[in-house]
Amino acid sequence: MSKQKNNKLLIGTNNKGKLGEIKALLPKSIKIYSTTEFNLKSPTENGKTFEKNSLIKSKYFSKKSGLMCLADDSGLEIDFLNKKPGIYSARWGGKHGDFSKAIKRVYRELNKKDKNWKKRKIRARFVCALSISYFNKKIACVLGKVEGYISHKPKGKNGFGYDPIFIPLKKKRTFGQMKPSQKYKLDHRYQAFKKIRKFL
Ligand code: IMP
Repeated sequence: MSKQKNNKLLIGTNNKGKLGEIKALLPKSIKIYSTTEFNLKSPTENGKTFEKNSLIKSKYFSKKSGLMCLADDSGLEIDFLNKKPGIYSARWGGKHGDFSKAIKRVYRELNKKDKNWKKRKIRARFVCALSISYFNKKIACVLGKVEGYISHKPKGKNGFGYDPIFIPLKKKRTFGQMKPSQKYKLDHRYQAFKKIRKFL
């Protein structure tokens, strides 16, 4: 692969929270581009797994921009809800990506399953599939996870998405209560990034 290609990388996400987190993980020597600079809308994510949806995005954005693209697909799996919302994590926030709406839905679904769910430990994990594509060619695709459980109520204002309701194993505070610098090194995106960085 030529040096030129490696020095330029498009981050295939329209989610500002994710863009910031991915940028923070990349070496400063790589010139980063975002989808907004190319005025690109997201493709339809009709894959059935995180890996497939990640590849749909990295291939689509690479073809549209002509740059190598790193894209992620991520979400929250809650064991007691049969791994929902899973690949539908963003969609639970509705058209406008309203995360408070998505969090309310999690509690609604837990209540539907068992009114006394708070007496249980509700195991959950964030999953992240990161992929790199150059036009239609898959360069790499990896999976990272962070295990934890669901907080009885939302706590903290940091991060995005389901951060206020997710407590990683062996910790007492939600991702929403942690500083970004604490969350980065624990989370699913970082775990995936550690596996994919050798391809950059
Ligand atoms: P997508 O990968 O853009 O389809 O959406 C993933 C969705 O999962 C996001 O919109 C969030 O709701 C959720 N999500 C993914 N990663 C995180 C995270 O690190 N914290 C909180 N929520 C996340």
